[in-house]
Amino acid sequence: MNRRQTLKFVAGAAAFAATNPVLGQMAAQAQQKAPEGPFKLPPLGYGYEALEPNIDTATMGFHHKNHHMAFITNLNGLVEKWPELPSKSPEEIVANLAAVPEAVRTPVRNNMGGHWNHSFFWELMTPGGAKAPTADVKSAIDGAFGDADKMKAAFKQAALTRFGSGWAWLAVGKDKKLTVLNTPYQDTPHMDSGAKPLLGIDVWEHAYYLKHQYRRGDYVDIWWNTVNWDKVAANLKKASA
Ligand code: MN
Repeated sequence: MNRRQTLKFVAGAAAFAATNPVLGQMAAQAQQKAPEGPFKLPPLGYGYEALEPNIDTATMGFHHKNHHMAFITNLNGLVEKWPELPSKSPEEIVANLAAVPEAVRTPVRNNMGGHWNHSFFWELMTPGGAKAPTADVKSAIDGAFGDADKMKAAFKQAALTRFGSGWAWLAVGKDKKLTVLNTPYQDTPHMDSGAKPLLGIDVWEHAYYLKHQYRRGDYVDIWWNTVNWDKVAANLKKASA
């Protein structure tokens, strides 16, 4: 179709939808897909292409504006069921799910977990920032694992052994020591282990399948090139406070 034909087709389809109750209803529902509400998709601090060639532009686009957006849409829907939802920070909520009413606890766990995890993940990656562990981070990693390569090997193991979808983390555990762990689905490190994350990787297939298909390990290896170690240092400071 050329542009003129396309416009004619679109106008015709709209006119048909207006006279057809089912199509009219579908169009109205599509417009309601992103309800207004207190939760907003946080902007990336960089473009979808900024992490090339480590993470491809298409994956970043779908991941941010579709996958993360789905959690935002669902959270705005949950406000009707639990009006107090926006009154606490996402971190307060994921760190204390017992305080969430049982009727909405599972959807809050999944959607606030997803929102928290992705917000953390976007900020952790950058085309700029320190490219290697800063002094404080290096000494914490060396103290817990021996050296950075041993930490990366343990982290990769945590990422590969998460069966199905989830996340792998480097975190400060309840015992104040650095540790690696993984979590299922959109669970955050705070939820069951009470750990405070320094860095984490999304190992859902949507995070790597376009570029790496089934090779999750290749994605983990190349992902280290995107990590902003200044952000990791700030997370360590916060976790140690
Ligand atoms: Mn994801």
